[in-house]
Amino acid sequence: MSRPTLPAPDAAWLDSLSHAALEAAAAERVEAAWRLAREVYPGLPRPALWFDLRGQSAGQAHFGRGGLRLNRVLLAENRRAFFVEIIPHEMAHWLVRHLDEGHRVRPHGHEWRTVMRDLYGLAPRVTHGFDTRRASPAPYRYTCDCREHHLGARRHARIAAGQRYYCRHCRQWLRPVAEASV
Ligand SMILES: [Zn+2]
Ligand SMILES: [Zn+2]
Repeated sequence: MSRPTLPAPDAAWLDSLSHAALEAAAAERVEAAWRLAREVYPGLPRPALWFDLRGQSAGQAHFGRGGLRLNRVLLAENRRAFFVEIIPHEMAHWLVRHLDEGHRVRPHGHEWRTVMRDLYGLAPRVTHGFDTRRASPAPYRYTCDCREHHLGARRHARIAAGQRYYCRHCRQWLRPVAEASV
């Protein structure tokens, strides 16, 4: 494992930032990650940046909209992790997708992992351990055979008490998901 190529920000400085200053600093971090990615692919377009992602996901590269989305609640609560890992993670998606004209590679496949390791010097993790209770009104994640379901506290408690719910699309029982994706 090589060392991270984006220097880690000072934790005390990060914690001192107002929400507006934090988002401005995150935009600068995205810019720095983008400049590194352009060393691999000089034609890589600059992604737009939004802080409008909600729920359990920390970040998302949104190719239809042409940019990256970050979860503002999780960013404020997990500042260092966003700067060290989440922003490079999403920029790696942005880079791999633009290198892959046929859109054939898997989102967290070999190409993405290689960018994380070799360009950003990071372990290619695909889940985060953030506490998502404040970020999501329906914080309990379940899965079936076709999609993810977000349940509120009441249905989650009913399941814990023995009730079962099934997915109306694939008709499989919902089962809990352990970790939130990035
Ligand atoms: Zn289903
Ligand atoms: Zn990802």
